[in-house]
Amino acid sequence: MFKHIKKLQYTVRVAAPNPGLANLLLEQFGGPQGELAAACRYFTQGIGEDDPGRKDLLLDIATEELSHLEIIGTIIALLNKGAKGDLAEGIDKEATLYRSLTGGGNDSHITSLLYGGGPALVNSAGAPWTAAYIDTIGEPTADLRSNIAAEARAKIIYERLINITDDPGIKDALGFLMTREVSHQQSFEKALYAIHNNFPPGKTPPVPEFANVYYNTSSGGEVRGPWNSDKNFTYVADPQPGVDGGDGGASVALPSKQQTTAQAMAARTRSDIGTDPITGAEVGGAKAIIEKQTPPGQAAAAPKKKAAIAIKVKPATKAKASAKDKAVPKGKTAAKKK
Ligand code: MN
Ligand code: MN
Repeated sequence: MFKHIKKLQYTVRVAAPNPGLANLLLEQFGGPQGELAAACRYFTQGIGEDDPGRKDLLLDIATEELSHLEIIGTIIALLNKGAKGDLAEGIDKEATLYRSLTGGGNDSHITSLLYGGGPALVNSAGAPWTAAYIDTIGEPTADLRSNIAAEARAKIIYERLINITDDPGIKDALGFLMTREVSHQQSFEKALYAIHNNFPPGKTPPVPEFANVYYNTSSGGEVRGPWNSDKNFTYVADPQPGVDGGDGGASVALPSKQQTTAQAMAARTRSDIGTDPITGAEVGGAKAIIEKQTPPGQAAAAPKKKAAIAIKVKPATKAKASAKDKAVPKGKTAAKKK
């Protein structure tokens, strides 16, 4: 059950309208790291969760993210309030109105025009919100890790937004929203480590001989750290194909009927390595024209270099004329058709 209180979780004071800033703030309204994505992510996880502790945590944070959505949406609406009225009422001269929306080099006129200055569920580039932003897979040891990363990304976007505004009220509210994401990140991390055997994620154990191996597959500029140290990993300096001990080949056992068709197709599409075909890029349009002008049954002249150049000079008219002649039915003239 939802109940709404028509007050915000955090007090919002906007000093002055700024459609350009409003546009950038849309990133946290309808963007991939935004509040709607966060709320939907945790709601869907919470509804599907059976562990009472995690269910409570997920639904608390999901509901708080909706409160954040309300805060960021309200800031956007206030920043656009002037533009909204101006656009709707059309009181200014066209150029004045245009400048007021696009001043400061922002592209807010795109969202302002389309959405009338209201907070739209798009990111700061105008791309519509999508459920594809949510990568839940229904396994808490994987989903909690994704939630931790999502909170980290949301924190960084808020940090960037704080860095581009000098409005103290907006800075203050964004600082609150940014801080809450840090708090959520910690809760999710605690919840992850409250699951025994949370690593590796899931139930099936890794194959032991490959679990703590580091393959140095990009050569040049090697750096050794804890991520590939001899203490933590078996470092393979020069990895070779077939790490399983096999030859690294690939094979499949096909039923005999499919083996026959697979071989037939392979034979039909086999490369002739003894040929050196002339490509369209080499002859330009000339080869196609030569073939068109050759009556059926007669071999086309080899595209000699000299001929190709000569035809290239005026190819279009000749080709067009012959095509036109062909298209005119017997007894009718080209002029009549026109
Ligand atoms: Mn949030
Ligand atoms: Mn959060």
